[in-house]
Parts: sequence; structure tokens; C-alpha cells
Amino acid sequence: MSVRVRFAPSPTGELHIGGLRTALFCYLFARKNRGVFILRIEDTDRKRYDPHSADHIQFALRWAGLNWDEGPIFQSQRLEIYKKHAFELMDAGHAYPCFCSPERLEEMRKEQEAKKLPPRYDRRCRNLTEEERERLIMEGAPFTIRMKVPESGITKFKDIVYGEISVRNEEIDDQVLLKSDGYPTYHLAHLVDDHLMEITHVIRGEEWLPSTPKHVLLYQAFGWEMPEFCHLPSILAGRGQGKLSKRHGAVSVISYMEEGYLPEAMINFLALLGWSPGTDQEIFSMEELIEQFSLEKVSHTGAVFNREKLDFFNGYYIRKKSLEELAILVKPYLVKAGLINEDYPLEPYFFMALRTVQERMKKLSEAPELLSFYFKEPDYPAELLIPKKGTPESAAFALEVAIDCLTEVEDFAAPVLERELRQAAQEKGIPPGNLLWPLRAALTGKEASPGAFEVLEVLGKDESLLRLEKALFKLKK
Ligand code: GLU
Repeated sequence: MSVRVRFAPSPTGELHIGGLRTALFCYLFARKNRGVFILRIEDTDRKRYDPHSADHIQFALRWAGLNWDEGPIFQSQRLEIYKKHAFELMDAGHAYPCFCSPERLEEMRKEQEAKKLPPRYDRRCRNLTEEERERLIMEGAPFTIRMKVPESGITKFKDIVYGEISVRNEEIDDQVLLKSDGYPTYHLAHLVDDHLMEITHVIRGEEWLPSTPKHVLLYQAFGWEMPEFCHLPSILAGRGQGKLSKRHGAVSVISYMEEGYLPEAMINFLALLGWSPGTDQEIFSMEELIEQFSLEKVSHTGAVFNREKLDFFNGYYIRKKSLEELAILVKPYLVKAGLINEDYPLEPYFFMALRTVQERMKKLSEAPELLSFYFKEPDYPAELLIPKKGTPESAAFALEVAIDCLTEVEDFAAPVLERELRQAAQEKGIPPGNLLWPLRAALTGKEASPGAFEVLEVLGKDESLLRLEKALFKLKK
């Protein structure tokens, strides 16, 4: 049987990091097995529905390169199907109508909470007589449909990651399947769809593990063959900390994209959150992941979200880009920061500037800070020009020496500049650092930047000399 998996997000907001990790594992498993990857939007919870969410989710998946083969399928367009199945289950005696008002249920919940009991339906409507049921239905009383969980026995299933799980049926609640407004709950809708869409492997977050016994009972009630279950460990905010959530900062995929994380880095990073190849390999392309991925190597212990690791991967993939590719990626950030216009050409100057910072860039959003001085004259206090053990006079002298030296240099290439400047420093008895600090500060206006020789080469002779003169003026003011 060919593998069919689905990613089934609820459109309640932007796609989270955890959701993308689930989608990635579904995708890798499907591709590895030459199966089908389906996108299903589970939009039957009208209270939490966000109209922009489905678009956001699709955008984020495409950005990450997780293209689906079927879908998106919207559950809200399939309401009749779920309803039909709920009634079928009721007719077969595996479900029953529940007429309890929301107020009664709320009261019951509060009482149970006060007594520290697990929230459970007390099954009042399960025991109504046929006549009572009919009367209420005739009166037009609104009702939900609940599953009729067997009162005794044990429900067992096997999870690929968590192993054998068994639960006593007494502990399972009579879950609502169809709400009184005709909308199905997640439990009914996803299961009917998984069956009709011939899903072979249900891969989803660990938070659904406790609900799975209910699902197993539903499969049995319908008389349907069960898919394999594979629950993925939660992503933790840090060691010994709880699940990653909004209170730990950005969790939406789009916010990471905007911050300048590359999809390759995000994919590489997320793949290792819960899965491990069993070797020391850390860098993986999508193709390598597809080749090596297996659900059996997913661990059941929570995976720690480590931002430094993500930055490490991102820096790695930034360094792997050609200057042309990187320039295209970085440009919108420079435009947004007001350093260049939309129509600024991607030409040699841009590439040369980029080359001097590529090594140290961890995120694309750092580009304006790293590159600003290439696109606008730096603005800085005169003190920046003075090295630690220097004085304004010694800094000014160093700048004069540099200006004299550079005026004579024709070939403005870094190695030539280095040789000439070091020689000039030696001749004038200036320690090289005391010459290079004011020089670099005058060119960049920054405490930290690429080295003076590289910057000189990119800026060129005229611009460099202009900046040095201005710096000198600042010192002598
Ligand atoms: N809509 C559910 C969610 O967003 C899907 C869970 C599942 O994959 O079954 O978590």
C-alpha cells in the first residue's frame, strides 16, 4: 500500500515552529516512501478561526519548500460528510444525542474542578430512554452527538515513537463528535477524513497522544482499519523548561523568515528537533534528509529549541550562498532600512561590500547594521577614532600618515594597501594597531567591522580619502 500522510493544521493564526516541524516530518516521510503528502485545513472550530491563517500557513510551507501533492482540503466544505457519519454511528448504537445545556455542562465542569476530578461528562443523556429521546427531539431541543465509550475493557494501540499504549476505557470521556450547530469536533472530522483520504500514517504532535485511545475506539465503532500512529515529541523552550510558546518570544514561522532565517537553515534545524540520524552528521540538505529520514529514529523525549544552534545553521547557509544570491536576499533589508532604493543595482560594489561581511552574518536582518557604512557616510563621535592607548593628537597623526600613504597608492587592492600602510606605520614609528584603529573607525564609524584593508578596497580611493579627511577634521575641531 502506498504511503499517504497529511499535515492538518487548524487555521487559528500563523504557522508555528512546532507546526512546521510536524509538516516537515510528514513531508520527509512521504518523500522517502514515494508517498503522497496532503495538506488539510481543519477549519471546523469557528471560535478560533482566523480568516488569514490558511493563506499564512500555505505561504510558510512553500517558503520552507514543503510542497504538498493534494489539497488544500478545507474541512468546512465537507460538513455534510461528518454529519452523516455521526448519525450513522448513532444509528449503530455507538453514539447518542446529548441534550445537556452548555450551562449544565459548565456547572459540572466547575464542580469537578473544585473536587480535583478530571473533567468528564456524567453521561446523563446516555441513559435516557428511547421515549425521552424522541420526545426531546420532537420538541426541537438542540443536541450534540457523543460517542458511547464502552464502560469496561482496555483500549490498546501502538505508537511508532511512544510504543504500546493502553488505557482503561473507564478513563475515557464520552467525547462530543458533532456539535449542536452541526459542526463536527476535531475528533470526528479528522478521523473521518483520515479514513476517506486513505491516510496510512498519522504523524502529529504529542499533545494528541492522550486523545488517541478515543480515536482507536472510534475506528473500532466504524469498523475501519486503523492507520499507524506516530506522535512527535514537544519542542521545549530550554532544558528543563516547558513547551515552546509565545511567551518565549517569536514562534511563528513568518517572523523567523522576516528576521532573515533561510529556509535551508530552518529545515536543517527543525529536522534535528526530535529526529537524529544516528551519526555525527549535522548539516543536511533536504535531499539528504529525505534519504536518511525514518520515523523509528524519532525520539520521544522533548526536543530543546536552541536559538544559537539555529543561528549556527543560518550562518552556515549564508556563507554557502554566492554573492549574487546573497545580494538578492539582503537587498530588501537594506531598502527597508533606507540605505538604498528599490532600484539600486546589484553590481560589483554591492557584491564586494557583501563579501566583507558574509562570514560574520548570522541573519539577513543584520545586513543593514553590518553594511550601512558602505551605503552612507558614517556618523560617529570623534572619540571613536582614538585607540585605547592613544590621544587625539596621536590619532590625528596616524590619520595624516594614512592619508599621505594612501594618496600615493594607485592599485587599491587589499594586499597592496596592507603592505604600504604597514610600511608607513613602521617608518613613522606608529604601532600598527594605532594606525589601523583610527583608519578603520574613520571609514566605518563602527567599533566592530571588517578590517581596514578590505574596507578601503571596497570604498575605493576617492571615497576613502574623503572619509579620512573628514575624520581628521573632526579630531581637530
Ligand atoms: N488540527 C489538528 C492540529 O492542528 C491536527 C492534529 C492531527 O494531525 O490529527 O493540531
